Amino acid sequence: SKTAAVVGAGIAGIAAAIRLAVKGYRVDVFEANSYPGGKLSGFTQNGFRFDAGPSLFTMPQLVDELFQLAGRNPNDYFDYIRLEETCRYFWDDGTQLTAWADRNAFAREVENQLGEPADHLLAHLADSAAKYDITEKLFLHRSLHKLSTWFNRDALYGYLNLPKLEVFKTMNRANEQRFQNPKLVQLFNRYATYNGSDPYQTPATMNIIPHLEYNIGAFFPKDGMIGITNSLVRLAEELGVRFQYNTRVMELITEGNRVTAVVADGQRPLAYSVVISNMDIVSTFHKLLPNARQPERILRQPKSSSGLIFYWGIQREFPELGLHNIFFSADYRAEFDAIFNRKTLSDDPTVYLNITSKHKPDDAPPNCENWFILINASNNSGQDWDELIAKTRENIIRKLSRNLGVDVASLIVCESVLDPRSIEIRTSSSQGALYGNSSNNRFAAFLRHANFSRQFRNLYFVGGSVHPGGGIPLCLLSAKIATDLI
Ligand code: FAD
Repeated sequence: SKTAAVVGAGIAGIAAAIRLAVKGYRVDVFEANSYPGGKLSGFTQNGFRFDAGPSLFTMPQLVDELFQLAGRNPNDYFDYIRLEETCRYFWDDGTQLTAWADRNAFAREVENQLGEPADHLLAHLADSAAKYDITEKLFLHRSLHKLSTWFNRDALYGYLNLPKLEVFKTMNRANEQRFQNPKLVQLFNRYATYNGSDPYQTPATMNIIPHLEYNIGAFFPKDGMIGITNSLVRLAEELGVRFQYNTRVMELITEGNRVTAVVADGQRPLAYSVVISNMDIVSTFHKLLPNARQPERILRQPKSSSGLIFYWGIQREFPELGLHNIFFSADYRAEFDAIFNRKTLSDDPTVYLNITSKHKPDDAPPNCENWFILINASNNSGQDWDELIAKTRENIIRKLSRNLGVDVASLIVCESVLDPRSIEIRTSSSQGALYGNSSNNRFAAFLRHANFSRQFRNLYFVGGSVHPGGGIPLCLLSAKIATDLI
């Protein structure tokens, strides 16, 4: 009978398990942690609930699709709303801007608050949609590493429109050419961080990212982000997938061109017809397959940025804040220079503040809010994180206190911290990268590992460290591509 092992219950591992179960496989998922979801998990502290990692939900249809594949009605498992307001932006000089899902409302807001002609914004969003259309056909639903991807009508459409992708220009350059107001350049440059890249290095191609948020939409799962993980695990279990928690896979035994067995900590080797690794590709090769040929060129690609996250229980409510809030730094270029070139943290970081209790009041006690604070951080190369975290905590508190006109420190009733070291340890992500490889050069798409192994015919790879890349939607697509190849 057809049997499959999945190493890791990250979102891509869970999605792959569901797809294989639907294909009739008997699936075992091995997970090192005591809980599923990897980066997409959550916890509660002193009556405050927090999503641990992702906070922005885009392309919900990719989650719905998994329920539909299994013949289920997604609404019986998982519910979400489309956000009318996507984000509130704050600058230290007092400027504020609300981004609306309705692009005409957003364009008016940009004109009123920043003096930028509405048609500049509309042109940018249209360009983003056009770029998405080209890349979706070429990259997102297929393996880049199969010839069939390159010889078909969609590919032809892609080639003919390649210049529109602007691979030879940086994102910052394209945005400076588009917008007069530097604040709007900064706002759109920030989308580079959605896959852990640097807007001053990443190609303008990455201007596809705003398309997801504005044209397709930003969403909020009614049970919080953790609802994505929980509902998919429930579906997987209903389909007979077995999850083994606290069970770390130590080795994949190979013979010739096949993986013959999976060795989990303290267990005897187990044979499977197919193995899918959701473990970071670097660790998969270095730790599970130390004797195999190592695709070093791919494994050595620069990693995406990491993050420093503070989870604060706050004993007050702030009507001026929304679900997603950004407090921008004064010198964006210097901030990215710190993260990507100097490998440290900026003294004036852009602060992202997410408050799920705005939409889900039971995430915080009465008259309180659950603050998830994230700043982009350099990935882990052995920096003195304890010192950097202490200093940055003060910088963040000072910035938020100034912007909100209160002493934020006195409102914090409980605190947890996640940093590049703990991200690396908890999810085996190389250097604590949030999104696998960075996209800081125009060949990055070709330098992610394929979703299948060239050495071992029954070994496949899914998750943020392989094609097509990091973030929930791309991780879900990696599971589709890998299992379509099986
Ligand atoms: P991971 O989440 O990396 O999980 C891998 C799992 O495999 C882990 O559970 C690990 O324990 C397990 N594992 C590894 N090795 C073994 C082994 N040998 N044996 C057994 N188990 C093993 N994305 C978005 O779309 N929107 C966002 O707003 C967003 N914000 C983010 C904010 C933060 C703070 C973080 C950390 C990430 C964010 N991301 C966001 C990125 C997103 O979370 C990831 O791209 C995605 O969740 C990665 O999923 P994955 O399938 O690659 O697995």
